[in-house]
Amino acid sequence: MNYVFGPVSSKRLGQSLGVDLLPSKSCTWNCIYCQLGRTKEYVTERREFYPKEEILAEILETVASGKPIDWITFVGSGETTLYKGLGWLISEVKKATEIPVAVITNGSLLSDPEVRRELLEADAVLPSLNAGSAELFERIDRPAPGFTFERHVEGLRLFRQEYRRKLWIEVMLIKGVNDSEAALADLVAVLSDIKPDMIHLVLPSRPTPEGYAPMPDEDRIRRAVFIFSAAAPLLNPAKGEMTLGSADNLLETVSGIAARHPLQEEELQAALEKLFIGDAAKVEESMLALFSSGRFEKVRQGGHLYWIIKA
Ligand code: SF4
Repeated sequence: MNYVFGPVSSKRLGQSLGVDLLPSKSCTWNCIYCQLGRTKEYVTERREFYPKEEILAEILETVASGKPIDWITFVGSGETTLYKGLGWLISEVKKATEIPVAVITNGSLLSDPEVRRELLEADAVLPSLNAGSAELFERIDRPAPGFTFERHVEGLRLFRQEYRRKLWIEVMLIKGVNDSEAALADLVAVLSDIKPDMIHLVLPSRPTPEGYAPMPDEDRIRRAVFIFSAAAPLLNPAKGEMTLGSADNLLETVSGIAARHPLQEEELQAALEKLFIGDAAKVEESMLALFSSGRFEKVRQGGHLYWIIKA
């Protein structure tokens, strides 16, 4: 197989059959967190890099093999929508199978009406938005000349107006770069305007070739989760990872966490369940005792209840 890989297990797309449409690395951006290394030469013109019939044949052969596949995901060694036959491929795959189709893209070509049209049949489109200001956009995504922040946001906005299926925007959170209060506030303003169906918060989980993308601290991740969930439902990469260590001084521990960032009630419950394994009564009793302390108030945001420290 030259173009198809997997299926690979993905938190967001289950068993995902990847389809790589591009020679590495063909991209309009040069992100500081890119796993593929530095963009040596920007590619900005759309092309049919490989014969689309060959790619389709590989996809259909893999589907016919009976492997369990939840999604067929177009994802390139670079920017997926640079592949000019993408719309044709999506359409042919949809005719041949009921497996849903996703497209992972940086979204930089969405200002092009042809690209937007080609994506309309996809069941989910996952573009990136890593900054809510031109300055941070340039610093993080380092786009080719002409691919401005304004053009990027306008492309996302126009696509949202035309696209009725799942628009899941990916935000890569990077320590010391876009995890400040100001950067999160700028991002949520743009996200609220675009109105995606969901926000996928993603983290630099592996070292990147350029080494510029450290993982944010846990309290910044939780702060981002809280702020972004005002704009859309959020896929939280850190969910369920909170641990409380010990049952001693539980009130102090939980107060200390809630003082740094709002605490999602479900996460607190999950952390108590990890602490008091198999003792549901103890979990419930602890939740009640903590709240009865009077130190917290509950705030509903993005469909979740958060505990915050009373002013
Ligand atoms: S858009 Fe994707 S492929 Fe292009 S530079 Fe950024 S991370 Fe790498």
